[in-house]
Amino acid sequence: MTTTRTLGLPIAGQQETGRGEAAVSVTGAVKTYRDGTAEFEALRGVDLRAQAGEFVAIVGRSGSGKSTLLNLVAGIDRPTSGRIEVAGTVLGDLSENKLAAWRGKTVGVVFQFFQLLPTLTAAENVMLPMELCRTIPVRQRRPRALELLERVGIAALADKLPSTLSGGEQQRAAIARAMANDPPVLVADEPTGNLDAQTGDTVLDLLAELAATGTCVLMVTHERDVTRWVQRTVSLADGRIAPSSPADDVTEAVSC
Ligand code: ADP
Repeated sequence: MTTTRTLGLPIAGQQETGRGEAAVSVTGAVKTYRDGTAEFEALRGVDLRAQAGEFVAIVGRSGSGKSTLLNLVAGIDRPTSGRIEVAGTVLGDLSENKLAAWRGKTVGVVFQFFQLLPTLTAAENVMLPMELCRTIPVRQRRPRALELLERVGIAALADKLPSTLSGGEQQRAAIARAMANDPPVLVADEPTGNLDAQTGDTVLDLLAELAATGTCVLMVTHERDVTRWVQRTVSLADGRIAPSSPADDVTEAVSC
């Protein structure tokens, strides 16, 4: 399958999830947290499908289960029941070790507070997932990191430590790091939550560009109106998908 992932920087020989395929398929996801004898149902039967090349916003009030859902898709956490399939892999079939290896190659993660390693330069931060997953030959890692930093517009800052970068620059580096292994799926949890509006816009532009070049991008947000950037908005309320208003669906809906 051929796609033009200019920002995603495909890795030779790596299979891609093509446009139109369900990159993410969540069926009947329930997540119950237990604290002693107390139980709390953070997700109460969520269905969500998203395709390669789609940019989907997951919105809802604080505590509605958005991050929990994103963590299930990223394989950071497991559902209490339900089925999570991402890029053709059913996550429940994987052992913890296999899940960690799978995640490094398949899902890029972008956080609100960037979470770059402070003692590594921007380029070294981008190289880290390549080193952990060994998807890229050693000699190609730095050139690839520099190319990814170029694509997010901060190549000149490659050898700077995160503490010397602005918030927007750090988030750009974090997006480059998330794309290090050219994952078919990127999840972003409040990626603009710590940025001013204008800088946040440029980060959303980058995520939209990633989606336009074939990546499935799922983004949690609770503050901003992001309809300008995303194809679809999924609302969560009390751990369930809330009925969407017609205005939410700006493209032909995929079932959710
Ligand atoms: P959101 O991202 O929409 O703010 P979360 O998914 O973070 O919501 O959390 C949903 C609910 O689950 C919240 O009420 C939260 O307190 C609860 N929750 C999240 N993580 C845990 C946990 N590890 N243990 C217990 N409760 C949790």
